[in-house]
Amino acid sequence: MAAPAPLYEITSPRDAREYVGGVRVRLLRAGWFRPDAGGFFGVVPQPLWSRMVETDDRGRLLCRLNLLLVEAGGKRILVETGTGERMTDKDRDIKGIEGGNPAVALREVGEDPDSIDFVIVSHLHYDHAGGMVDASGHPFFRRARYVVQRNEVEAARSDELRLQGIMESEQLRQVQAAGQLAEVHGDVEIVPGVSVIRTGGHTRGSQAVLLGTRPAAGHPGEPLPRAIFFGDLIPTRWQLPVRWTSAYDDYPIDAVETRNRLLHEVIGGGWWAYFTHDPGELPIQLEWTEKGSIRPVAS
Ligand SMILES: [Zn+2]
Repeated sequence: MAAPAPLYEITSPRDAREYVGGVRVRLLRAGWFRPDAGGFFGVVPQPLWSRMVETDDRGRLLCRLNLLLVEAGGKRILVETGTGERMTDKDRDIKGIEGGNPAVALREVGEDPDSIDFVIVSHLHYDHAGGMVDASGHPFFRRARYVVQRNEVEAARSDELRLQGIMESEQLRQVQAAGQLAEVHGDVEIVPGVSVIRTGGHTRGSQAVLLGTRPAAGHPGEPLPRAIFFGDLIPTRWQLPVRWTSAYDDYPIDAVETRNRLLHEVIGGGWWAYFTHDPGELPIQLEWTEKGSIRPVAS
């Protein structure tokens, strides 16, 4: 079953969101993919998640490949690279991928891939890092530095059996060979107002992206908006219950603790939230229910 049109879409410049520090953010939809629902919801029983979302006849969820196009400090930043197109037709069919090439997606919406200064990759799984390089192994974004956590680079190079074949190790090597890899460690401001936050949990070096300068300690009440892009730590709004980890989380205990801590900060600060695979309207704000769970604020 074909996904709804359009395949590629970007927030119009007029509707770009602005966050504290003059950070402008547009959501780029770079295609669709269909993860296996059982793997996506991991330990969560089907009777619970199936109240929120339907599967297709192969037990898959219809999900988006959401990228962000960010402008801050005179620089242009792409967050995530989608799946790319380097996998086999069989693999694309199993994963239900439509589109996924980040350079094509940018051009289709009228943006130049050569205008990108930084590419932030949340982690090195195929649906986030698969579009780092083109079919011949050259970086899609010729001028860009690719920002990856040091722990994630180490994980991609490790000989641990679970990680081999899951991480985009060859693409990482090609980005590095082109002199475009920017390894970072921990929480790092990439350009003024745009920072990566190492979260771990999903993979060893997963990182979220904070849009807007972080409030100084003791001054949490500043009225200007900020936003967060969670990567696969929280891939859609369906995984807001903090214990709903997926089968793809390598470190579920860490994931639950980090999700809990970040969600408290996000709700407490009134931050906006972007989810990497959510097919719905984004960004959204979140709130506590009377029972102490988390839900999107009704728009
Ligand atoms: Zn993912």
